[in-house]
Amino acid sequence: MNTRDDLGARALHILETVFGYPSFRGEQAAIVDAVARGGDALVLMPTGGGKSLCYQIPALLRDGVGVVISPLIALMQDQVDALAEVGVRAAFLNSTQNFDETLRVERALRAGELDLLYVAPERLMTPRCLDMLETVRIALFAIDEAHCVSQWGHDFRPEYIRLSVLHERFPQVPRIALTATADHQTRAEIAHRLQLEDAHMFVSSFDRPNIRYQIVEKANGRKQVLDFIESEHAGDAGIVYCLSRKKVEETAEFLNENGLTALPYHAGMEFATRSVNQSRFLREDGIVMVATIAFGMGIDKPDVRFVAHLDLPKSIEGYYQETGRAGRDGLPASAWMAYGLQDVVQQRRMIDESDADETFKRVQAAKLDAMLGLCETLHCRRVRLLDYFGQPSQPCGNCDTCLNPPRSFDATVAVQKLLSTIYRVDQRFGAMHVLDVLRGADSEKIKQWGHDKVSTFGIGADRSEAEWRAILRQSIALGLIAVDHESYGALKLTEAARPILKGQETVQLREYQKPVKARRTSKPK
Ligand code: ADP
Ligand code: ZN
Repeated sequence: MNTRDDLGARALHILETVFGYPSFRGEQAAIVDAVARGGDALVLMPTGGGKSLCYQIPALLRDGVGVVISPLIALMQDQVDALAEVGVRAAFLNSTQNFDETLRVERALRAGELDLLYVAPERLMTPRCLDMLETVRIALFAIDEAHCVSQWGHDFRPEYIRLSVLHERFPQVPRIALTATADHQTRAEIAHRLQLEDAHMFVSSFDRPNIRYQIVEKANGRKQVLDFIESEHAGDAGIVYCLSRKKVEETAEFLNENGLTALPYHAGMEFATRSVNQSRFLREDGIVMVATIAFGMGIDKPDVRFVAHLDLPKSIEGYYQETGRAGRDGLPASAWMAYGLQDVVQQRRMIDESDADETFKRVQAAKLDAMLGLCETLHCRRVRLLDYFGQPSQPCGNCDTCLNPPRSFDATVAVQKLLSTIYRVDQRFGAMHVLDVLRGADSEKIKQWGHDKVSTFGIGADRSEAEWRAILRQSIALGLIAVDHESYGALKLTEAARPILKGQETVQLREYQKPVKARRTSKPK
């Protein structure tokens, strides 16, 4: 008879003897217990939290094979090798195998010789695979990277939607879905699409206390990231994320010219080059990987000391997932980002110009707004970040806004000046021209349009262009001003601008902070 304690003792025994760890971490014990007993589970645990053991141990405790569905084909071989090393019988099925290898795995599966089987979702969904699974005893289904089921997320995989078939065809087999990133909406979507509404939900703390969050005003991004690396992370391994492939290549080149060892990584590169760069990053010390978000999912490198963003991520989930690759060993690490007006304009434009439907655009816009809120906040970044994941917390003392609190100021008059200028030039001109008029610049374009005659000409001469850009950026982030991409980036007033112009509402903004050059620590050459 299996009493509760007996199951717990057996789980601990496997943890010690097979995996060589003395104790479970966080929620692991409770998750293992729930799944080993045949219950469904939805597990939210940050990257590095130890999700794998949550299905590996129940798979060993239960009869039959644990089937692990993962989109990370490139990692399956490593996972299977690592398990083989500790004596767990594991195999995988994916498109990288030839027919003979596939047959060998299928034979082992039928003979009941496997403890764990990793399968790519598109393979699992083939009639051949599903039929075969019906002939064997299955301990559990583990659905890794479960957020891939979310149509709103940036890792959406259409095959994941079809995974609900598991519940229909194998109703008695427990399922455990795992992800490192899911806000409330994504959580609900996972539960709904995978029919896990009744599953036991385990939400671990999302806090990564060893990561220091910093978001700075972008002036010259790649120069700033170089300064940041040289002053705070000389010789450290890190990742620099850029939005475009071209920028990845240019940035890598720039960092190399300035004495760092930087390697590019993006989906447009040849597979062989990408793999070489990835393995150099994993094996050598002090490599800076400059990459698009194509890089990183499933990368297990514990000593990444910094993650830098040169472009704004689309959502807090993306930001959290990407920055979460820093400091998995628990030692101090940095998440650094340079962010500016252009980022806001560009991301808004990408949403506006996509051919997605209106609902999708609305969700994307809301996600972007939350991300902008994190950038513009006057309060603790970590509190804001954790709040997004539904976790209340106290100011952390280890982020830029805690360490060096930004000042806010009553920007009502400044914003009124900006809004009026946009209005005076008939809402037909872009940022550059509007700021020129506001600051009273001596430009041909201004004379040509007679804008030196408008009443707001030069009323903003008291502030620098950088200060005005910061005010404009925040006004756009707050939704007071819209950028019309159909008319070449013309600035327009929104409904929300009206009460400000009329003096019925006030606006508090973050005071502009000149980008200070970080103090250099002596750097070994
Ligand atoms: P995740 O999938 O959540 O990112 P992993 O399952 O890859 O995390 O685990 C991250 C690291 O933590 C691995 O090196 C793993 O061996 C280690 N680990 C997991 N659970 C424990 C534990 N209970 N005790 C010690 N180390 C653990
Ligand atoms: Zn803080």
